[in-house]
Amino acid sequence: MPKWTKEVAIGFFPVLIIFLAFTGVNIVPILIAAVLVGALLFMMQMRGGITVGAAQERKRKKKGPSKLTFEEIGGQDSAKQELREALDFLIKHEEIRKFGIRPLKGILLTGPPGTGKTLMAKAAAHYTDSIFVAASGSEFVEMYVGVGASRIRDLFKDARTRATKENKENAIIFIDEIDVIGGKREGGQQREYDQTLNQLLTEMDGIYSSDTPRILVIAATNRKEMLDSALTRPGRFDRHIQVDLPDKKGRKHILELHGVNKPLMKEVNLEKTAEESYGFSGAQLESVMNEAAIYAMRDGLLNIEQRHLSLAIDKVMMGEKTDRESSVEEKKRVAIHELGHAIMAELVRPGSVSQVALSPRGQALGYVRHNPQQEQFLYTKRFLEEQIMIALGGAAAEEMYYGGRSTGSRNDFDQATNVVQTMMASGLTSLGIVNMDMVTTEELMRENKLILQELMEQTKQLLEEQRTIFDNSLDILIREEVLSGEQFRCQFRDSALLPA
Ligand code: ATP
Repeated sequence: MPKWTKEVAIGFFPVLIIFLAFTGVNIVPILIAAVLVGALLFMMQMRGGITVGAAQERKRKKKGPSKLTFEEIGGQDSAKQELREALDFLIKHEEIRKFGIRPLKGILLTGPPGTGKTLMAKAAAHYTDSIFVAASGSEFVEMYVGVGASRIRDLFKDARTRATKENKENAIIFIDEIDVIGGKREGGQQREYDQTLNQLLTEMDGIYSSDTPRILVIAATNRKEMLDSALTRPGRFDRHIQVDLPDKKGRKHILELHGVNKPLMKEVNLEKTAEESYGFSGAQLESVMNEAAIYAMRDGLLNIEQRHLSLAIDKVMMGEKTDRESSVEEKKRVAIHELGHAIMAELVRPGSVSQVALSPRGQALGYVRHNPQQEQFLYTKRFLEEQIMIALGGAAAEEMYYGGRSTGSRNDFDQATNVVQTMMASGLTSLGIVNMDMVTTEELMRENKLILQELMEQTKQLLEEQRTIFDNSLDILIREEVLSGEQFRCQFRDSALLPA
């Protein structure tokens, strides 16, 4: 019967109003009061609904596995080591207290997306035998003022209650995308996020080493520079651990971990795959293994072969092959464009081209795959100029053969102008050492034009000198649609043998 109470009330109310109006009662104040009460109830329900929704969301998340160990995370040796050392503060709490050391309240994991920050937090929970509660910064952003702050309160309460219930001494609260709520606060204007951030800071300030369960907050971001200094100051997130893109050894380790449950051929060389997947994140490497397995299954094979891994790398890097059918003329233009990039690359960085392909993938109609280069942290002016020349190679080649360019060079020009910007900001142009904020747009445009024009001339000249290689490679590429790095370098060797 209570099920019908609401419906009966809704039906009864208009009847009552009509009756009162009929008997001559002034119903206007009653109607206004009813509207106000209705609006109030609606607001309360919305808030309640949201809070319940969030609680359910968290319930779902916290059920996630926290049995993950550090051994199941590939690479990241120094980050894992640093994190373990920090976590020892939680484990050896008695010693910490004896020495009067303040408890570690927050650890900030920073690094590019997909590098394993969430995995690290889960492994931390396992390592310290803690309750693991996860939330994401974007969950705290609501249009209703105060909801974000109350969710933070709930999150901490939730962690404490669960730890007590499950008889655990520690609880780890993981907040992904902390930058959403922890971005720099601009003076004056109060935002909803500010209240949320204040609540987080208040909760963190209320963590004491004598408390049980002990709470540790681990936050992750890929935009550390955006964070408010109140968050990063000592006593809050005072341990910062960088989780970088994996190096070759790390990539191999991650590939091995994700290959455990997959039927790899004995001949598969994951070292080679690690070499080819330069610059990939852990999440991309996981995707490579997955895609390779899909390719093998599609081929009707029982095992994954090396070529499936290479195909998977291309797919993850450039998107799925599309079945866009281009005309013969368009294909030739694409081939010329790609060879322009490849020949320039081979001229300035011998041995760097790994493959030139004509197959359309993602947005690209063709592509040049480069061999991994030694990782570098400093770049000379000449290196950056060469980088620009490789980018301009496509357009230069089109001009060489057709006397004009196409829209295919748009991304190349974006790349080239980005490098020019880096050169300007580093004082490597004729503008000298400049503060980029003080340079006018006209000055920037003039310098940009000067540099790109000069390098375009050099590129065209260098490519023109390699016409034989160009023509021969073009024939093969149009015929076979792929040109391997070895085949390509053969053209260079053959042309060196020809009489001048
Ligand atoms: P985001 O910043 O986008 O939240 P993240 O750094 O938190 O990313 P994770 O969510 O931890 O990244 O990783 C995503 C997936 O990528 C994992 O589920 C896992 O499959 C894979 N992965 C990432 N890094 C590693 C690694 N070091 N070892 C093994 N797998 C990894």
